[in-house]
Amino acid sequence: MNIHNLMEEVVGHRINKLYNQIKEVNACWLTCDCENCRADAISYVLNRVAPRYVVSGRGVIHARDILQDAQIKADIDALGIEGIRIISSTKRPFHSSARTECIVEASEKPVFNFPIIQGSILEGNTFEPLANATVTLKMDGKEVDMADITWANPLNTYSSTKGSYSFWPKAIEAENADETKKFNFSIEVKRPGYDQVNYAFDTVLISENKIRKELDTTVSLKIMDLVMFREEIKNTMNRMIKD
Ligand SMILES: [Zn+2]
Repeated sequence: MNIHNLMEEVVGHRINKLYNQIKEVNACWLTCDCENCRADAISYVLNRVAPRYVVSGRGVIHARDILQDAQIKADIDALGIEGIRIISSTKRPFHSSARTECIVEASEKPVFNFPIIQGSILEGNTFEPLANATVTLKMDGKEVDMADITWANPLNTYSSTKGSYSFWPKAIEAENADETKKFNFSIEVKRPGYDQVNYAFDTVLISENKIRKELDTTVSLKIMDLVMFREEIKNTMNRMIKD
């Protein structure tokens, strides 16, 4: 008997597709896309999704049937992009095939390079990660542009990635080198049936001479967990307080 995990094909297919899409949009943070890195990204996802075992040869369920399920596909893609970012941000000196084809957009002026902004959305009753929340990063009330189109704003949270979100704002030109500036951000979280959450924070940056291309997760800005409460629970609590 030959037992096979169908998810290997499904995840392999999606990861290769994601790598190709990231390369197509010229995202310079992708440092390497060799077979080893792709295999690491595939393993990252396979270790975090439920396996789907089949007996080889019976051919009842195919990989493409699994991808018909929009939720499974979204969960794999969310984990896939998370895995690819982590693998790209890890220093891997033994990889000689670093990508060179990426064109780095030169800036005449110094720039403010933003850290990666990361956090998680939790459910107020259970304190479990909350999926299907829409998270928007704003600066002075406006949606913030991302470093490249592989980063979404607004974005959705997924159960596979434990309600987490991460944003990488696009660098902003500065007037002078070594200029210090404070940036005011807010995070807006919406989900049907839940009260909207708004969280404001600021970060002080010093301008640098060039746009940072490397994904450095060690300098990320961690935001406290944001908790969402169901509309009716809060109303009940308000009534209890009044009574
Ligand atoms: Zn590699």
